[in-house]
Amino acid sequence: MTRVAEPINQLIKKLARLPGIGEKTASRLALHILRSSQEEARELARSIIAVKEKITLCSICYNLTDTDPCTICEGGDRAREVLCVVEEPGDLMALENSGAFRGMYHVLHGVISPLDGVTPDDIKIQELLNRLQGGQVKEVILATNPTTHGNATALYLSNVIKPLGITVTRIAQGIPIGGDIEYTDEVTLKKALEGRRQV
Ligand SMILES: [Zn+2]
Repeated sequence: MTRVAEPINQLIKKLARLPGIGEKTASRLALHILRSSQEEARELARSIIAVKEKITLCSICYNLTDTDPCTICEGGDRAREVLCVVEEPGDLMALENSGAFRGMYHVLHGVISPLDGVTPDDIKIQELLNRLQGGQVKEVILATNPTTHGNATALYLSNVIKPLGITVTRIAQGIPIGGDIEYTDEVTLKKALEGRRQV
């Protein structure tokens, strides 16, 4: 039986709980942290605490932010007449990193899923409709994931948004069925946005 010092063991256990990190990677990371300087280790710990203490949701788009409104909602260089609806902040980050979209966003924080007890009232749909009342938005791009629930949520949104006289489009092209925008490469995301179709 190998004996690992308890503090190292604890760190490995905590790291292994992170998504995509197995026991082996967790051990590697723990040893890397051990080898790094005191200051580097402190900075890592401080960064983890800072995201928990400083990050809130933007009161306009519900993106994660340390300023309210967020820099995208405040940005003067963004197209305000196009609004892209995504499920989670990770999807927004992927689209931003692709550089393909320069409009506004709205983060739903989930998808409609009646069997899991998630109704339209449980995600940021009413907040989206309130935003659209302003009349500035001419096109809503539905960029929910091409999964059963993502598609059902897009259909629901299209039905409630179209009567407002706003063009509704859906991205899908290139993103595999059941796929996740967050983990889709930049080129595919660009193509998916360019190939959006009116619904
Ligand atoms: Zn915002």
